[in-house]
Amino acid sequence: MPVPILAARDVTKSYGRGPGRFDALKGVSLEIYEGESVAIVGKSGSGKSTLMHLLALLDRPSSGSIELSGSDALLLTGRTLNVTRNRTFGFVFQQFFLTGGASVLENVILPLKIAGIGVRDRKRRGRAALAQLELEDKATNKASDLSGGQKQRAVIARALVNDPRIIFADEPTGNLDSATGAVVEDILFGLNRDKGITLIVVTHDADLAARCDRRIYIRDGLVVDSESAVAA
Ligand code: ADP
Ligand code: MG
Repeated sequence: MPVPILAARDVTKSYGRGPGRFDALKGVSLEIYEGESVAIVGKSGSGKSTLMHLLALLDRPSSGSIELSGSDALLLTGRTLNVTRNRTFGFVFQQFFLTGGASVLENVILPLKIAGIGVRDRKRRGRAALAQLELEDKATNKASDLSGGQKQRAVIARALVNDPRIIFADEPTGNLDSATGAVVEDILFGLNRDKGITLIVVTHDADLAARCDRRIYIRDGLVVDSESAVAA
């Protein structure tokens, strides 16, 4: 068995302290292998987004460990952590997180700006990513002018621009009508299939979860079916 691209080992996460403490994750272990598409499934409030934030190194667990390609990811701090996250992960969120007043191209190339790539290269790569999502003609439009589906395609272009190994998608179709959502799903699964990008989808949508290679079910901060947390 190869080394998992991402693993959580007995991870817990508590918010707050004292009597107000809430244990959002109570000891979650899972392994994800390169090239897989995996759904993290559970009801609202079960801890899916919390788990995704820990896996994506956007937040730190209260205890337990996260391994990226077999290395302890919690040892990464500061600039090294930012660079690793920036180079390895792309993000697609339900709420898009686009800067409405900035152009579509500016939004898409933000990860490259953070990575310190020069302006000409940024624009070239940003336009190439937009072309992949058939949004080339919207490059100079304000992001706020796009439709919901176009916004999510711009978000996917932004997620792709750094050539990530893993895309995290948190309820990627949650703000889209079903036809537009289906288009966005097809794009995400196409990237998984054609580019081998590992796809980690957080969702409470059973149909979307069913399209993934594997499903990990979360309830009240625990993996419900522990067999599902490790690839067969
Ligand atoms: P899901 O994504 O499955 O809907 P979340 O991971 O967002 O669930 O949240 C899991 C639980 O943790 C919820 O009960 C939520 O209210 C709580 N929670 C999430 N973030 C915070 C926070 N920053 N402070 C306190 N509680 C939080
Ligand atoms: Mg959530």
